[in-house]
Amino acid sequence: MTPLLETDNITYTYPNGPAALTGVSVQIAGGSKTAIVGPNGAGKSTLLLMLNGMLRPTSGEVRFSGQPLAYDTRSLRDLRRRVGFVFQNPDVQIIAPTVEADVAFGPLNLGLPPDAIRRAVQDALGYVGLRGYEKRPPHHLSGGEKKRVAIAGILAMEPAVLVFDEPTNTLDPASSEEIMELLDELASGGRTVLISTHDVELAYRWADSVILMERGNVLARGPPEEVFSDHGLLAAARLKPPALLDLYNELGLRDVIDRGVPPKSVLEFTDRIERELRGHTPVRDEVGTIYLCNADQTSGDAIRRLIEQGAVEHLGAMGTRAKEFANRERILLDYTYGVIDKCILKALIGESSLIITTGGMVDHVHRRIGEYSAESGLALAATPVEEPTSHRPGLEGALE
Ligand code: ADP
Repeated sequence: MTPLLETDNITYTYPNGPAALTGVSVQIAGGSKTAIVGPNGAGKSTLLLMLNGMLRPTSGEVRFSGQPLAYDTRSLRDLRRRVGFVFQNPDVQIIAPTVEADVAFGPLNLGLPPDAIRRAVQDALGYVGLRGYEKRPPHHLSGGEKKRVAIAGILAMEPAVLVFDEPTNTLDPASSEEIMELLDELASGGRTVLISTHDVELAYRWADSVILMERGNVLARGPPEEVFSDHGLLAAARLKPPALLDLYNELGLRDVIDRGVPPKSVLEFTDRIERELRGHTPVRDEVGTIYLCNADQTSGDAIRRLIEQGAVEHLGAMGTRAKEFANRERILLDYTYGVIDKCILKALIGESSLIITTGGMVDHVHRRIGEYSAESGLALAATPVEEPTSHRPGLEGALE
């Protein structure tokens, strides 16, 4: 099958600078999640800038859908609609005085009619969880929020490929995880997503394919568990293996666990070790309840009641809208990312938790817990938090 994006032996030297790429050939499959991994100065950004024609290779060829890129203004405009680029520093990308105007910039340039522009802006802001921010000046937002504005601006043009240069570089750990969850959602919606990063842990968890670069060369490519198991390669790229994979490989070498598909999460790893140590998946007499609250249909009171009754020990929210809801309702959160796994881990030691989320993610939680339940043979399910009818928000007036 033709890769969606491809570079064929490309080289590039910056004016008065070093050779940044020295013969790079990579193939990016449609719908994949690819991480270009390497230390600072490896050539990651330079390679990404080639993919939507912002840089032109000195020699070699870049192809999109099998067609070599053309560098006239019209072809480039067309390409950039399909291959959206999110810069490392959102301040480079954000240009308008309000969030709304900034996100509208792309669709406006495409010549869309006003109605379509409004729709595109609303959809993109909804996707990144920034509805209600329309009139805010972007320079007053936090780093994570600015990043979301920049992403919304690109999403508003509905590109098939999204390229992120170091998406989490300046963000704190929680904001980083939230951005990576957003990138996951984009990929699960069928888009092709590419990132550059020197964060091996992040690439290991997130990517289905990695390209390891150093000094303008590709050192290796393949599934992250293969590339990151090669210590020699990682040392050549001045990187460390991901902690989870390193531990797993070392336990395998000592015959403590059977090697198979390496685990990607703490939940998978602890399950594997437990199975190895006990020889089977233990029957649990008591698993904790995982409550699930759809914040679009429940009030803060229903959640507070559960907390007061002592029915909920840990609270998590998934998605920006759910986090805003928790903030508004002054509900303190223990988990703001990796929420489903953390709540399953708690359920397995008999502790109860509550996941607050909205929209399509409600089904996603049911599905993920259902899958875990089927795989592990443990009867786990999410219990929806029901609102007594008379308390349903918006119904008070109708019931009087
Ligand atoms: P990475 O993204 O992996 O950190 P880059 O692609 O930014 O690497 O850089 C690759 C090489 O090109 C480095 O040696 C860097 O110093 C050089 N370089 C990057 N941008 C420029 C530029 N605008 N002018 C001159 N040299 C540059």
